[in-house]
Amino acid sequence: MVSRVIPVDPFDLVIFGATGDLARRKILPGLYRRDLAGQLPDEARILGAARSELSDGAWRNEIRAAIEEHVPADRQDGAALDRFLARLGYLQVDATGEAGWQALADRVRPDVVQAYYFSVGPSLFGALAERLHRHGMNREDCRIVVEKPFGHDLASAKALNATLAAHFEEHQIYRIDHYLGKETVQNLMAVRFGNMLFEPLWNAQYVDHIQITVAETVGVAGRGGYYDRSGAMRDMVQNHMMQLLCLIAMEPPYAFEPDAVRDEKLKVIRALDPVAPGDIVRGQYAAGNGQASYLDDAENPDSRTESYVALKAHVSSWRWKGTPFYLRTGKRLRARTSEIAITFKDPPHSIFGEQEGQKSNALVIRLQPNEGIKLKVTIKEPGPGGMRLIEVPLDMSFAEALGPEAADIPDAYERLVMDVIRGNQTLFMRGDEVEAAWAWTDPIVAAWEAKGDRPQPYDPGSSGPEDALMLMHRDGRRWREVRP
Ligand code: NAP
Repeated sequence: MVSRVIPVDPFDLVIFGATGDLARRKILPGLYRRDLAGQLPDEARILGAARSELSDGAWRNEIRAAIEEHVPADRQDGAALDRFLARLGYLQVDATGEAGWQALADRVRPDVVQAYYFSVGPSLFGALAERLHRHGMNREDCRIVVEKPFGHDLASAKALNATLAAHFEEHQIYRIDHYLGKETVQNLMAVRFGNMLFEPLWNAQYVDHIQITVAETVGVAGRGGYYDRSGAMRDMVQNHMMQLLCLIAMEPPYAFEPDAVRDEKLKVIRALDPVAPGDIVRGQYAAGNGQASYLDDAENPDSRTESYVALKAHVSSWRWKGTPFYLRTGKRLRARTSEIAITFKDPPHSIFGEQEGQKSNALVIRLQPNEGIKLKVTIKEPGPGGMRLIEVPLDMSFAEALGPEAADIPDAYERLVMDVIRGNQTLFMRGDEVEAAWAWTDPIVAAWEAKGDRPQPYDPGSSGPEDALMLMHRDGRRWREVRP
């Protein structure tokens, strides 16, 4: 199956933070891949901006090296890379000063789509918005792309929303959550709302519980300073995991349109109950296997910041009353994996008697690695010997179902940047969603800070602290194994 690529309109994309890690590792390699796929029109141009003094040629060389490093060998194409690099130009611009702004305003073409990507630290977002406005670059149809973290709590998120709103309309603001750009996350909506099969069962009557896991093997070394002021709750739960929960729990939107989808997500966040203190566990990785502990990586030897969190959430709605959503995320765990598992209730009566092989149906949506969707069903074990039941997965791994072309799934950033150019905000967070998510998160973090106790240590390479296991055991349930 050959995927259809529809070229986007001509554009000028300005990347502030053009010399930074995100630009080099994700944004520019992603744009190169879209160019390789034929999605960028001839008139598409990319302007890098940062304080470093660089010529166009020097920046192109940096980006050539970044693409050679971060794009797989089978997607390297010398001629395509030269063509891509010819689109690139660099300007020295200081977000907090005056240098470079007039030159930038002169370079951006008024008759193409204009997008400004804020790939810089959050303390610069306001300064960039204000200067774009002052130099006449906030034209009616231009877009700004804002990276995470979007605020540190409700007050700072509100302040940031207000700063951006002073210069841009909400329809111009694209708050990135790259989890929403993943193919499987969008497929989750296709599976739910494009089939009759699942939606009638998608509620408290038939779903026993939902697990959302985002497990990482890396620690925080190298960015211990930033992480220590954030922690797993702010860095992962408030944004990425909350977004995943919303897509599972939301009501069908009236159309697959930005505000229709975002209205439904917002209702879910607002319906979340406060989390009871006994329903949340925090952990911090200890030293082991020759690796440093969180306290070593974080620099602060007395840090109380959590590198792991597990919690039980409830959505108070007709659809979900009584169905727990278990969320967990952590660093230095056994494997790098992100998945959502929806476990259905057992049949009300088993005509086969007690059978080990009969397991609850589960729909497992795998975000990484190996994006795909699996439905676990019970069937008869083939062969003679009576009615013995076994569990088998109906596997919708993209590569097998759709052919090798489909295995080359665009990275989340590729897709999201193209959505910005197309002017489609469906997969971006709206300001009120972000604020509602902080309003739910703030009391949890405030309670920890008031109490000041230490997170529970856990072994590196494990699946998290003991108390997190108990969170489910006491409900008669089990976490799925954390495995690659
Ligand atoms: P980074 O590697 O520290 O890069 C920061 C960039 O900002 C550099 O290009 C720097 O270049 C530029 N910069 C700093 N001060 C500036 C100023 N006053 N005026 C203009 N440019 C300035 O950061 P990053 O990792 O790329 O992250 C960028 C943003 O993305 C952050 O908000 C981060 O939280 C977010 N993010 C990053 C990742 C990731 O994987 N890296 C993932 C998710 C979100 P000069 O020093 O030359 O000015």
